[in-house]
Amino acid sequence: MKKALQFYTAQRKKLLAFQYVGFLTSWDAQTEAAPGSIEADSAYQAVLSEMSYRLTTDPEFERCVEELYQQREGLDDVLRHEIEVMRKSISDAKKIPMEDYVAFSELTSRAYPVYVRAKQTGDFGLFRPYLEKIVDYCRKQTEWLATDDLKGYDVLLDRYEPHYTQKKYDAFFNVLRERLVPFVKQKTACPAPVPEWAKQKFDVSKQRVFCEYIRDVMCFDKNFGVMKESEHPFTSGIGTDDVRITTHYYEDDLVSSIFSVIHETGHATYERQCDPSLNGTLCGGGASLGMHESQSRFYENIIGRSSAFWQAHYPVLQKTFAPQLDGVSLGEFMSYVNRVEASFVRTEADELTYPLHILLRYEIEQKLLNGSLAVEDLPSYWNSKFTEYFGITPPNDTVGVLQDVHWAYGDIGYFPTYALGSAISAQLYHAMSKDFDVEKSLLSGTTKQINQWLGEHVHKYGSSKYPDEILRIATGEDFDPNYYVDYLIKKYSKDNLA
Ligand SMILES: [Zn+2]
Repeated sequence: MKKALQFYTAQRKKLLAFQYVGFLTSWDAQTEAAPGSIEADSAYQAVLSEMSYRLTTDPEFERCVEELYQQREGLDDVLRHEIEVMRKSISDAKKIPMEDYVAFSELTSRAYPVYVRAKQTGDFGLFRPYLEKIVDYCRKQTEWLATDDLKGYDVLLDRYEPHYTQKKYDAFFNVLRERLVPFVKQKTACPAPVPEWAKQKFDVSKQRVFCEYIRDVMCFDKNFGVMKESEHPFTSGIGTDDVRITTHYYEDDLVSSIFSVIHETGHATYERQCDPSLNGTLCGGGASLGMHESQSRFYENIIGRSSAFWQAHYPVLQKTFAPQLDGVSLGEFMSYVNRVEASFVRTEADELTYPLHILLRYEIEQKLLNGSLAVEDLPSYWNSKFTEYFGITPPNDTVGVLQDVHWAYGDIGYFPTYALGSAISAQLYHAMSKDFDVEKSLLSGTTKQINQWLGEHVHKYGSSKYPDEILRIATGEDFDPNYYVDYLIKKYSKDNLA
């Protein structure tokens, strides 16, 4: 076993080095690189990805993983988990025929520009033949990768969020359908108009100053991560000591950059607070997409849109933008940042209506996979379901079925993790509130106590355990979507959110 372990750890070091290069180059491409450089750079990318593919498919590496797996009882917990996960990903990769794998990556790279054109022109017909092939491939994938426990759509769901299958998601989305859909209808019947003060222009350099202040409020140590600008905000990094975020400033929107910085700093705090002993292993970083999103949304919505948070920081915002906000009370500001309205586009949706956008996508993916919905009927199905849930009908496919890029990338099974993350954040909030007064801690001016609780109960495990295990350790319970719906209904039933 000693020899296998030596080979494994040496190979893992190389894999991490490729991850590091991948992280740096994609960070560069999205923040600094000139648009004209992308084409030339992608030739180097192809070489690197082939080299890293060779490392994971090396027969000697596979043999060592198998030997370690057979003797896993003798390994420490972290390495045992890592070997289990690695063995499954090697075995999955081998089950997919090479020529299909290559054909699919060619298909998605050809599908992307067509999707962009289809979205721009609102012409679903352009994208339809590509989506049909993508769905076909995903169906074949569910057959190749099926196990005794996982079949059909479950195979895909498990790839994005381990152990969350249709049984769990159905229970979750049924609660949303039964309890949240009627509540949302009632709340969106007559939306409050956007207040006049929010329609002003807000100096971007002042927004920058306030966003740096917010990072201090969230106790992010700037020695270990920069903040830059990109078209779409994101977080990336490697290990606990290099965690970077981006944001996007809009002159005509005061709060967009603030909430994206809170969201991304939430992701970054998760990465920062993993146990440093996980650096150099494959168990560093967040446990899953849903778990990561639970952290960013916890900070963005539960903390960042709470009255206690802004009681401490609204005076600073007012001062930064003086005299623009002089006549705007804290109550008016709170109503604005928690404004609810039925809208067509998921990425622009508010906290309350957001999960219904995911419910719609989940139902559609389920039907596409089991064959009860054909791709050609997708736009009309989308529109009629959308009308049923939101009471409004998309005027075109650009803001309807074509709005998200995920399916063009071949990502079917990804969407549900977004809503799951929000729901997990509410369950964590419930558990945290038993240990200390969260609102009171926010009045002190920083999120220090919250960071500490999440660090101790969630972050420190990194991805050394499965996400459902971490949730059980942190809250003492399995996933329960009722915490989320209770939280939303309680918050949005108040007349005055301040
Ligand atoms: Zn996020």
